[in-house]
Amino acid sequence: MALIDDYLSTIQPELINTARLFGIQELPPDLRLEAREMGGEYIITFSQGDTQTTGQAPIPLDEDPRLRELHQKRAARRLCKQTLYDFYRQRTGVHPPWGSLTGVRPTHLMLEALGQGLSEEAAVQRLMTDFDVTREKVELLAQVARVQRSMPAPGDEWMDVYIGIPFCTTRCAYCSFSSGEIGNGKLVAPYMTALAREMRAGQEILRESGRRLRAVYVGGGTPTALPEKEFEQLMVGMMEAFPGAMEYTVEAGRPDTITRSKLRAIREAGVGRISINPQTMNDQTLRVIGRAHTAQQVREAYALAREESIPHINMDVIAGLPGEGIPEFTHTMEEALRLRPESLTVHTLAIKRSSPFGERQTAVRLKQRSEAEAPSAQLPAAEIAAEMVRLGRDTAGQLGLRPYYLYKQKYMAGNLENTGYALPGHECVYNVDIMEETSHILALGAGGISKRIYPEEGHIGRAPNVSNIENYVARVEEMIQRKRELFLT
Ligand code: SF4
Repeated sequence: MALIDDYLSTIQPELINTARLFGIQELPPDLRLEAREMGGEYIITFSQGDTQTTGQAPIPLDEDPRLRELHQKRAARRLCKQTLYDFYRQRTGVHPPWGSLTGVRPTHLMLEALGQGLSEEAAVQRLMTDFDVTREKVELLAQVARVQRSMPAPGDEWMDVYIGIPFCTTRCAYCSFSSGEIGNGKLVAPYMTALAREMRAGQEILRESGRRLRAVYVGGGTPTALPEKEFEQLMVGMMEAFPGAMEYTVEAGRPDTITRSKLRAIREAGVGRISINPQTMNDQTLRVIGRAHTAQQVREAYALAREESIPHINMDVIAGLPGEGIPEFTHTMEEALRLRPESLTVHTLAIKRSSPFGERQTAVRLKQRSEAEAPSAQLPAAEIAAEMVRLGRDTAGQLGLRPYYLYKQKYMAGNLENTGYALPGHECVYNVDIMEETSHILALGAGGISKRIYPEEGHIGRAPNVSNIENYVARVEEMIQRKRELFLT
């Protein structure tokens, strides 16, 4: 009894995550939890008013005391979350699309079930039964898993490289990354000097580790926010340090940062994939979210990239942006059909606390600002967000794209998901590696997090670079040393 009582006192954040599946942001004060151990079982009851739900599960009794404690904690936690889920399912009548899953990588569960030799239909049934996931979502997972299993397999002998450029022209209102506005550009030169040093050191680490280069991804921030000269030097430096990858991607997210000369530098370097991201094709929304470009500039950037024979353009859009309903999202999808990207990522708006939208929400909650002063930091109704996500899927289908990666975030509209679609053979290896955490990642630049995978132990070692640009410049040798220790010891 002591163990379950001790443990339950620490589980509050996980219970709140479960309540949020039903749109409940905080646990109400009159929600009661009772925990008992009886007849070799944990028995948990949640009650509020006249609603009551009880769940029970066997108490694990491993001989090894360390394992026993671990397994008992895990069983108590699972039972508690599941019982709260059942309680709210009964009380609200709502069926969350992802059932009781609160993790960010549901594809893992499908791949795990298939890896155990289950047929696709048996795996689908398992996820529906064990986690109450809707058939629509579990079939999406099955499609994603099918495509991922046909892609180049990751393994210990491979390493991905990420190069971060933490500058943007302006800050998007939903952004929680640590990128800064490029401003007067005075940090660009010292940053690029430090990054060039780290790229050379990264090349050494890759060579000494004995691993083969898999995919290179230049992200941020907006790499194309760099001035032309620095951008061209980056492309040349990247190829000198990291030649021969199976895939190169450069994010060119903001269309107003794209020039013919930058596109030529991309093509001449041999980069096959870029990302030009409208997020929405409605000018009014673009202003509200602080993007500082127009839909027309998106069309022009696509035309320019096609003229410069860039083989693969990815498009990112966001469902549920402030002020948008089905007609506005439909318009964005119609424009996507005209622009014909080779891949399309449909995000669902998530409001993170560290984004300008999140800061506004916090200010309203703390009564520092009124609702009227901060009206745009709201998520759309769950059914509207769900309809937009369906429209995104239909549009991808019309473009001949298949879903190939998927992840969830906290605080997402309608508790939905982000899904990447691509033409067959155009799936981005790096996107799958980073989402599924199946490949070593050597991350360079401010805010990059290098990861070493230990599949046997089920453990991931991390070496984060500092996010602040000035600190990164001053401490680049320390960042290099962290990576050497991660990958070479
Ligand atoms: S372009 Fe991306 S990194 Fe830059 S501010 Fe917008 S969301 Fe953040």
